[in-house]
Amino acid sequence: MCLFCDIAAGKIPSSRVYEDDVCVAFLDIAQTTDGHTLVVPREHFDSILECRPEVLQHLITVTQKLALQLKQKLNAAGCNILINTGEAAGQTIRHFHIHIIPRYDESDGITIGFAERSEPFDLAEILDRITK
Ligand code: AMP
Ligand code: ZN
Repeated sequence: MCLFCDIAAGKIPSSRVYEDDVCVAFLDIAQTTDGHTLVVPREHFDSILECRPEVLQHLITVTQKLALQLKQKLNAAGCNILINTGEAAGQTIRHFHIHIIPRYDESDGITIGFAERSEPFDLAEILDRITK
């Protein structure tokens, strides 16, 4: 059983913002900010890493359109578009989804930042590990 397969199939209710043959988009139940939306393929992929490229291309195009719609209709100042990939990265639902989180101002309760790394690292050595 997969929650997002069931939502995409209409077996579990959701607040649908958009749907087509390939994907559905619905309001995240947590509404981190007003309009927090999830874009979800109808076909099951555990994460972006397994997603078929044609589906991925479609999803990102839909995400762009919806982000513009949310920004305009809700008068948002910007948005965060997030894809959590794997448990270690905070993915809790193992069915690929893209978050669109409208942003209003600095007091909207979200802080996304990158902590400065305290231990030393070797950029060239890291690059070697990736590319060799
Ligand atoms: P992630 O942590 O990236 O896997 O995100 C999963 C998201 O799914 C969370 O933001 C949840 O609030 C959201 N979620 C869980 N159950 C539902 C549901 N029934 N309808 C809408 N969103 C849900
Ligand atoms: Zn699924």
